[in-house]
Amino acid sequence: MNILYDERVDGALPDVDRGALLQALRADLPDLEILHREEDLKPYECDGLSAYRTVPLLVVLPERLEQVQTLLRLCHQRGVPVVARGAGTGLSGGALPLAKGILLVMARFNRILEVNPQGRFARVQPGVRNLAISQAAAPHGLYYAPDPSSQIACSIGGNVAENAGGVHCLKYGLTVHNLLKVEILTVEGERLTLGSDALDSPGFDLLALFTGSEGMLGIVTEVTVKLLPKPQVARVLLASFDSVEDAGRAVAEIIAAGIIPGGLEMMDNLAIRAAEDFIHAGYPVDAAAILLCELDGVEADVHDDCERVAAVLGQAGARDVRLACDEAERVRFWAGRKNAFPAVGRISPDYYCMDGTIPRRELPRVLKGISELSDEYGLRVANVFHAGDGNMHPLILFDANLPGELERAEAIGGKILELCVAVGGSITGEHGVGREKINQMCAQFNSDEITLFHAVKAAFDPQGLLNPGKNIPTLHRCAEFGAMHVHHGQLPFPELERF
Ligand SMILES: Cc1cc2nc3c(=O)[nH]c(=O)nc-3n(C[C@H](O)[C@H](O)[C@H](O)COP(=O)(O)OP(=O)(O)OC[C@H]3O[C@@H](n4cnc5c(N)ncnc54)[C@H](O)[C@@H]3O)c2cc1C
Repeated sequence: MNILYDERVDGALPDVDRGALLQALRADLPDLEILHREEDLKPYECDGLSAYRTVPLLVVLPERLEQVQTLLRLCHQRGVPVVARGAGTGLSGGALPLAKGILLVMARFNRILEVNPQGRFARVQPGVRNLAISQAAAPHGLYYAPDPSSQIACSIGGNVAENAGGVHCLKYGLTVHNLLKVEILTVEGERLTLGSDALDSPGFDLLALFTGSEGMLGIVTEVTVKLLPKPQVARVLLASFDSVEDAGRAVAEIIAAGIIPGGLEMMDNLAIRAAEDFIHAGYPVDAAAILLCELDGVEADVHDDCERVAAVLGQAGARDVRLACDEAERVRFWAGRKNAFPAVGRISPDYYCMDGTIPRRELPRVLKGISELSDEYGLRVANVFHAGDGNMHPLILFDANLPGELERAEAIGGKILELCVAVGGSITGEHGVGREKINQMCAQFNSDEITLFHAVKAAFDPQGLLNPGKNIPTLHRCAEFGAMHVHHGQLPFPELERF
């Protein structure tokens, strides 16, 4: 049994007669591919957070908008919950299926509809892979900036639903800053356009509201993204430190010097060694931490910025600063970072990736706190993250086959997120809340704020049929969790006070 999964959600949903539903779907949607046998459903039981698993009632694989529309209408009439899924790379259990709900897989909506170099936008279906957009735009000297490390696999629909980030989001913004428009279907199957082709549109900013809504407000059916010109040059500096805290301090000092790097990433020793073993990126395996700092733009500016950043790094205590000598080395440096998660997967039977955001100046304190929690809980933690954004990704290493390790991993993960909130940060930077962080929402928001989230949800989906049980906790759950609302600067957990 999966102890991380909260069965109350499925338990509270009304029973669905699978046979009758299957019959109705086949009658109304004769050409829709529907999976219903246990062995076909099993591969869909989890997303990238594999500690949470539920076999869905049915899986549907539509290819046309009208099919999704009919499906939603039918589910709405029958009160059947629907969970959308893109590529299933999510790390917070957002696409975790329901035993009493349909899993709506949007992966076959994988066409790039238009690349418009004059207007600098691309119109794509939601199942298109993130990287495929930049590849399609490349012949025009353009690219799509948000670049999650999973970009080779994750879908743009999933990126919109999670407001995904990536290495380049420090300078170029998250998904929400790089969208012009999304087409959605409501829970009743109505077509809506959020945003516009212009930079702004009147009325409430529903595009921003929808971005990051984790499949709870509607189904994304088309996305218009902004494309940016590729920078003339990009150079990357690799700085090594003997202390993790010094590396954390250097991050804040680079930004304080008025420089906004294209990317500013940090890895600690455990992550460095794992990545080096896997990718042979040329990382110093004896360093306590490294920073990768990319500067991009026109040649003269990049040259000056490299010199300024190198000086700041030196003053901050870097023992060595190397400029990638050519494009091949730059790509290798980034390959180590982008493959750090799978690399950590090679040194531990299981790992649990957390995602919290903190003010940059708090990096040294929080990194120290994580290290102390790691000792206290007896689990190794590797840190590899978007340091410039203050977006932490502690990877907690554990072995699910050893009794108690999964529970300890979950407990330390919760403590790390609460520490992030306590220093003025938030429980997610880019991976979303999903099922995973629903309890920590109670620490981040007060009951009035959570009530407002429910009101927004009800405005789009009064019956609560889209992805129920994710993202917004019930007030009852918060009362049970017993840790309502951590104020910035206030540490309600005695054991965190030492940080
Ligand atoms: C190795 C690795 C590295 C990662 N690195 C990053 C990173 O750097 N930055 C980052 O932000 N994330 C990262 N992620 C997390 C993940 O890739 C992102 O959250 C991504 O946006 C999920 O896209 P997906 O297509 O896989 O969505 P899924 O996992 O399938 O779904 C995610 C959420 O989106 C909803 N959804 C999916 N499609 C639709 C749709 N068409 N309409 C409405 N809702 C929909 C689902 O219901 C769910 O709530 C990483 C994951 C892995 C495994």
